[in-house]
Amino acid sequence: MVIGVLALQGAVSEHVVKLQACGVATKLINELSDLAGIDGIVIPGGESTTIRKLLVREQMLTPLKQLVKSGLPVFGTCAGLVLLAQPDSLDGLNGQVERNGFGRQRESFETELTVMGWSRPFHGVFIRAPFLTRVETPAKPIVTLPDGRIVAAQQANVLVTAFHPELTDDGRFHQLFIDEIVRGRG
Ligand code: GLN
Repeated sequence: MVIGVLALQGAVSEHVVKLQACGVATKLINELSDLAGIDGIVIPGGESTTIRKLLVREQMLTPLKQLVKSGLPVFGTCAGLVLLAQPDSLDGLNGQVERNGFGRQRESFETELTVMGWSRPFHGVFIRAPFLTRVETPAKPIVTLPDGRIVAAQQANVLVTAFHPELTDDGRFHQLFIDEIVRGRG
């Protein structure tokens, strides 16, 4: 299995380390031709407006959007969530995103998260993070804060977190992403 990591900007190497720890090969995605032959892709955190600009410059925005639509497994963290939830970006998640939603006072914070179906909490690292105000079917929330903000969700081949699992030593979200790819193959 080869998982691409979009490498235009942002927290790229941390995802590579986490994926390799899950036992899969990784491939940095820098240009259109790199998209060939991958079994899934990670859209990292960074600056969503910058990543979007670079996707347009590299003529990758539309092809990547089409790949996501056609079922390529994708895991977006933070800025990656923003891009996946924006209809005019990657449009892979049916929901409403609030960019930089936590505002100034809590631009960055860490908190223990309750993940649906997991017995142990997950340490959430939020850095100028977005959140989802709502998600609609077929998307479903998998982590909702006590105040109702949705910070992780899943829709078919798309997994998103508003926080940064690649910045913790807990590999469960990356493993979930890999497990779903394996499961999807039957
Ligand atoms: N605030 C950034 C954005 O909207 C995301 C921050 C991050 O990825 N850590 O693009």
